[in-house]
Amino acid sequence: MRFLWEGHESRTHYPSHCDVCIIGGGIMGSAIAFWLKLRAGPAVQVVVVERDSTYRTASTPLSVGGLRQQFSLPENIQMSMFSAQFLRNVNRFLAVEGEEPPDVQFHPQGYLMCAAPDRAARLEENYRTQIENGAKVELMTPARMKERFPWVNTDGVALACHGQENEGWFDPHLLLRAFRRKATHMGVEYVEGEAAGFESRYVANMQVAGRQSVAGGNYVLDRVVVRQADGEVKTVKAAVFVTAAGANTAEVARLAGIGEGEGLLAMPVPVEPRKRYVYFYHSPDGPGLDCPLLVDPTGTYFRREGLGGHYICGKSPTGAVDDPEPDTGDLEVDHGYFQSHIWANLAARVPSFENLKVKSSWAGFYDYNTLDQNAIIGPHPYHHNMFLATGFSGHGIQQAPAVGRAISEHILDGEFRTIDLTRMGFKRVLENKPLLEQNIV
Ligand SMILES: Cc1cc2nc3c(=O)[nH]c(=O)nc-3n(C[C@H](O)[C@H](O)[C@H](O)COP(=O)(O)OP(=O)(O)OC[C@H]3O[C@@H](n4cnc5c(N)ncnc54)[C@H](O)[C@@H]3O)c2cc1C
Repeated sequence: MRFLWEGHESRTHYPSHCDVCIIGGGIMGSAIAFWLKLRAGPAVQVVVVERDSTYRTASTPLSVGGLRQQFSLPENIQMSMFSAQFLRNVNRFLAVEGEEPPDVQFHPQGYLMCAAPDRAARLEENYRTQIENGAKVELMTPARMKERFPWVNTDGVALACHGQENEGWFDPHLLLRAFRRKATHMGVEYVEGEAAGFESRYVANMQVAGRQSVAGGNYVLDRVVVRQADGEVKTVKAAVFVTAAGANTAEVARLAGIGEGEGLLAMPVPVEPRKRYVYFYHSPDGPGLDCPLLVDPTGTYFRREGLGGHYICGKSPTGAVDDPEPDTGDLEVDHGYFQSHIWANLAARVPSFENLKVKSSWAGFYDYNTLDQNAIIGPHPYHHNMFLATGFSGHGIQQAPAVGRAISEHILDGEFRTIDLTRMGFKRVLENKPLLEQNIV
């Protein structure tokens, strides 16, 4: 058994039981572990099962680390606003005595969401929802946009919205490291291995921590079966399980019968990997320092990366015949995609991007919710002791601090206490009632 995390000592102890076992030690699993410990301290024993502590293919380090208030749903706006507050105080939350303070390299800079005429009314509606929820955003006419960002070409833009506060980007890998380091310091145990199954037990009169008694008996999840790299199999017994396995969550949930059984177990978790490319380029005459994260009506986005005339960009495919979803069998980048689907959009919006050179690229998986491109957060309706935190569809990094707090509240208090995320539960999946987030990039 190896317990790997940059300098943390190897241990031979293998936890056979705990109170809360989290499957997936990416940003979500680690944020949930952190909040459980912050709230309950030694009273709750937390184990995180992570199959690859290098996080080579995990979504977290491959994301572009953007944080914005500009969503269409109040829950998403509120979660990101809390995350902005959390990042401002990251030292207070995640510092570890005797070690370097965490630096997640937060760059405060607004998003500039641009709408074509057919989407202008929707952008304005979203703006109102954002203002009602306390966001600091400015609606911009093309003339105002040009005045504020003289390097932009406003052709085809009817209306734009610019974040004034609580937006920007940070290094997602550094935030993950900080969460994991702090959680470990607080007593969370990370074990390396793959969740490969669950064992259940019959409980005559079931009671799950913080939840009401359920009359009569039921089978409850009792242990997770963990397969280690050397093939050895162990089990971890827990009162509560959390599945935060990113783009693989449906697979892990299936191990617990979710999507395999009847009734409440018939519906799978509607989350699948969707490959997204990111291109890193240099443009000597580009917008420079005062450059927001601009989202074009075509869906193409770019932002500054560092200070030396570098930028990163990407675009989600439309799914049309000439822009299909890429194969998800690997994390190879289609280098031709920049040429065929992105560059023209960049140069149309910022003429100086005619002159650029792509220097590198990478691909990562969105944990894409096929129902409504929105998170699924909360307990599973059948397995009352299984919580889900998945389906973030491209906006998970920024929501992790809020989701970690929310799941910890539900486990420890039996309900959401700060931001009410009830609408984001699995119930809407069962009822086939999408809670559509309009602002997906
Ligand atoms: C290109 C790209 C750009 C993005 N940009 C942004 C952005 O700007 N802003 C934003 O907020 N979000 C962004 N995202 C989305 C964000 O990265 C994800 O929503 C977020 O990282 C999800 O975190 P997670 O912890 O759920 O998943 P992950 O980071 O994937 O972690 C899940 C972990 O579970 C582990 N695991 C899986 N199966 C098992 C198993 N059976 N047993 C044990 N462990 C298992 C995996 O190894 C992995 O480490 C972007 C994503 C991509 C790909």
